Amino acid sequence: MVNTMDKISPEVVTGIQAIIKASALCQRVWSDLAGGESIRKSDRSPVTIADYGSQAIICKMIRDRFPNDTIIAEEDSKELRKPDHSKVLEQVTHFAHAFFPTSSSKEVCSWIDFSSNSITDRFWALDPIDGTKGFLRGDQYAIALALIENGGVILGFLACPNLYMDIHNPFGERGCLFMALKGKGSVQMGKNGLSEQPLSVSKVKNPSEATITESVEPDHADHLTHQHLAQKLNISKPSFRMDSQAKYGILARGEATLYLRVPSPSEPGYKENIWDHAAGSIIAEEAGGKVTDVLGRPLDFSCGIKMVKNHGILVSNGILHDVVLKALEM
Ligand code: AMP
Ligand code: MG
Repeated sequence: MVNTMDKISPEVVTGIQAIIKASALCQRVWSDLAGGESIRKSDRSPVTIADYGSQAIICKMIRDRFPNDTIIAEEDSKELRKPDHSKVLEQVTHFAHAFFPTSSSKEVCSWIDFSSNSITDRFWALDPIDGTKGFLRGDQYAIALALIENGGVILGFLACPNLYMDIHNPFGERGCLFMALKGKGSVQMGKNGLSEQPLSVSKVKNPSEATITESVEPDHADHLTHQHLAQKLNISKPSFRMDSQAKYGILARGEATLYLRVPSPSEPGYKENIWDHAAGSIIAEEAGGKVTDVLGRPLDFSCGIKMVKNHGILVSNGILHDVVLKALEM
């Protein structure tokens, strides 16, 4: 439960171990195969060997430790089991062997399918690779895992294997792990879970000094509306485009002041997925930030896979939240 969870609770220990392994698997897929083959899902979005491998490992580790917990994750093994995709399945199994050496392809598929579609009072939300398009481009991506109880996120992890540790040293060490516990703050660690540092959002009070972060993909957010908002608030710094929930991470550590996600005109009624925001939102909030939709409503993780009661996303350092909400009413 919320107040009894601490850094040595089994949820935290299992979550960190799982996300570190999944992150290492993704990096290996990238370094061995430059991303490798991908499969097109029914919505035309890509899913890679790394998405499947990451989901298999994390689901297995959570199921082994918490057999009664529900996991809601983005992928399933339906496409992977098709004979046309046997080479991809072979590769997924090969990369999983680095962590579970005796696993068969059948077992790997069954781990992926530990994921369920219906939420319960307590569940884990997992995006095995958030920002798959970023992963394929060699840009930012994240492995995002959160624990939700009674509709509230109580624990969140984000592994960002390509993100620099320190903004002042962008060519220095890469690979960050973010973690937040409800009521206990947010921290950043190195990719092996060491060198923990507490995080806090930027203290910027004047909207004109804000730095905006937004999606790279124009289909995921309305860049033009974001630009109009920036003009309205006299923000002169160019927006920082970045794939995945790494945007929540850079906001939590004060490098960005606002994360804007007004729905794209290509899909104005788009409803966000819980796994795209659960982990990131607690990391931003526990660092002192504020997270709502673009109408100022709290994010609702209790409706199912889709956040049907929300429209877009607004994340801020807290101080600027109301000013931005007001400016969005244009
Ligand atoms: P980002 O890297 O921040 O652009 O977000 C990546 C996530 O965008 C993916 O995990 C998708 O689930 C999600 N996504 C897909 N289509 C849309 C859309 N039309 N609007 C907003 N998000 C989307
Ligand atoms: Mg995603």
